Amino acid sequence: MSTSLIATVAVAAPLDKALSYLVPHALREQARVGVRLRVPLGRRSVVGYLLGLAEGESAGLKEIKEVLDEAPLFPPEMIPFFVRAADYYGHPLGEVIRTALPAGLSGRGEEVSIRRENYYTPAAMAGEPAGARQRELLAFIRERNGAPLSELRRAFTAPHASLHRLVEQGHLTEAEVEVHRDPFLDAPVPADCPVTPSAEQAAALAAISVALDSGSFSPLLLHGVTGSGKTEVYLRAIENALERGRTALVLVPEIALTPQLVGRFRARFAGRGGRIAVLHSGLSEGERYDAWRAIARGEAAIVIGARSALFAPLPAPGIIVVDEEHEASYKQAEGFRYHARDLALLRGQMAGGVVLLGSATPAVTTYHRARSGQLGYLPLAGRVEGRPLPAVELVDLREARPEGDSSLSPPLAAALEETLVRGEQALLLLNRRGFAPFLLCADCGTTFRCPNCAITLTFHRGRRQLRCHYCDHIETPPELCPGCRGSAVEPQGAGTERLEEELSTLFPAARIARMDRDTTARKGAHQSLVERMLREEIDILVGTQMVAKGHDFPRVTLVGVVGADSSLNLPDFRSAERTFALLSQVAGRAGRGETPGRVLIQTYSPDHYALTCAAGHDYEGFYQQEIACRQALDYPPFGYLVNLVLAGNEEPKVLRAAAALADGLQRAAGEAEVLGPAPCPLARLRGKSRVQILLKAPERLPLRRLLARLPELRKKIPSGVALVVDVDPVDML
Ligand code: ADP
Ligand code: ZN
Repeated sequence: MSTSLIATVAVAAPLDKALSYLVPHALREQARVGVRLRVPLGRRSVVGYLLGLAEGESAGLKEIKEVLDEAPLFPPEMIPFFVRAADYYGHPLGEVIRTALPAGLSGRGEEVSIRRENYYTPAAMAGEPAGARQRELLAFIRERNGAPLSELRRAFTAPHASLHRLVEQGHLTEAEVEVHRDPFLDAPVPADCPVTPSAEQAAALAAISVALDSGSFSPLLLHGVTGSGKTEVYLRAIENALERGRTALVLVPEIALTPQLVGRFRARFAGRGGRIAVLHSGLSEGERYDAWRAIARGEAAIVIGARSALFAPLPAPGIIVVDEEHEASYKQAEGFRYHARDLALLRGQMAGGVVLLGSATPAVTTYHRARSGQLGYLPLAGRVEGRPLPAVELVDLREARPEGDSSLSPPLAAALEETLVRGEQALLLLNRRGFAPFLLCADCGTTFRCPNCAITLTFHRGRRQLRCHYCDHIETPPELCPGCRGSAVEPQGAGTERLEEELSTLFPAARIARMDRDTTARKGAHQSLVERMLREEIDILVGTQMVAKGHDFPRVTLVGVVGADSSLNLPDFRSAERTFALLSQVAGRAGRGETPGRVLIQTYSPDHYALTCAAGHDYEGFYQQEIACRQALDYPPFGYLVNLVLAGNEEPKVLRAAAALADGLQRAAGEAEVLGPAPCPLARLRGKSRVQILLKAPERLPLRRLLARLPELRKKIPSGVALVVDVDPVDML
């Protein structure tokens, strides 16, 4: 009896197990581990991922219909990593792999068209062609050991006829290849400024080198205050890894917002054999696919990207850098809700590499791990060249009241004035875009709420729109109040748009610009604002938390925070941590050059430890207070959480389903606590009513046991109610 080739396949569908399929003879050559397939599932045909091949019995197995890739999209050693990740988050393996692969090719069979072009290589044939032009072309191609048509077109006008002749005469061979599109290749590279590492940087680098040499998993926390030169440590650590023949993966919170960082990497490694692949959110699907395949072919030594770059098919990463590891954007907010920092640790563990977590304000959980010895600790306590951290003052808004409708207290207005007089730059943070967070009728109290979400609509004056910042519902603000037909509808509070307007009235001669999601929606707009800041064409930059992120503007000497209270008062146990991190981060933008900086934070809670500690650059003090709160409430790192969110159009149905689910969970709870059901803080979102059940336990095991019961409990949830499982939730709204 003859055996057959059997493939293990994870299908991109919510299934618990991988499936077996028969590989038909015609597909034996193409079916390699790591390619996508089209396979039958029930009466449908779905995309699957080939995880393994073995000879075996084919009885009862269905056949693979089609192999979708010419080459694997991930190396076989990533499969155990996918399996562990799927297991940890209680998510179907096929869906995990689908999330891991670049968007566009991972969907249900839609194909990215691959562009091809001709590629000319010199044939092993002596002798020279007749024409001078042909000789010139041939020399050019020989020098490069082959060249694609697009490159030849750039170097020669209309080379087609000559190429054709050269092929005919046997001087060249012609082949079709996939075109490799990399828009970053054409962008200018900034100059690299080599520096001598400070004593602290040198100590951190020495520890990283030891870890690299050990060849075993080494998780490290690089805790460096703002402006302490963390990037320089990343660059040199990666150099060390490359020298040892390893590769490097660099994760940043939001690649589009970090042009300066990417520029520094390119400056350091361009032309040194360390090919960099940047997985940029501005890439088209095709470009992303190209970059992905190039990485899978082993053509990149360094991969930089946001959250999803974690899954880049880089062979054997020797170092994984997670910059700003505390950032909430590392957590995927839908579908497969992984945390890129936590999975970076897992991947590093499985690859036997260094995982370097960098932050000025590490997550409380991360710092706790460092203190308990689970992470190596590398401190950079001072700024480079002994520059001082900026002086931070808290402005008590209950005393220093802004006049009338103004957003600026007298001290902040005066500080801005002084900065402008000195010809220096200022940054102003107001973490709310739009003109005003809501409109209110002063006569009858009417407000304008989103019909789909339980929040007010934000007023955008420039576009004359009321917009929901969650679902993007848009309305035109009415001329008269729909409640009382009066004309007393007024914008309440301020967003960045209003602040920008107030500043231009207050300082008519100043050059003012705004950086938020509205002004940076266009491709290249963010980059252009950064460049204008660096060229000192802007005096005051107003913006949301975007202005706090990683910029190095040496001429900024004043940072103002217009309101620190909104983030402090969110109903989330991490609100103090987030506020502390944001304030420390934005304060860190001041005084990075030779002139010292000053920071003013306006607040109604000047006694809150998140503010006093941020003002005192006191991470340790903040941590001590915060960890005590966490311990008292069994929150992370003292407890583990899983958030279950049920959502549906019909509220009573959602409530009933939630009650039944909570009941079932309660019975199986063991050591885990089942809290709720309770309405989510955002009780209505995009038209759905939302209810949550929080699972909490001192260890992971009871939670995993409880999650194992979910597939069975899920069956009782009626259609029309969706259940989302969020392990280690970050956003609890
Ligand atoms: P961080 O990321 O810690 O906020 P950066 O890495 O952006 O800090 O460094 C801040 C500035 O200091 C950069 O302009 C960088 O080029 C410079 N720098 C870094 N290390 C040194 C050093 N050893 N000596 C002098 N300048 C340095
Ligand atoms: Zn809405």
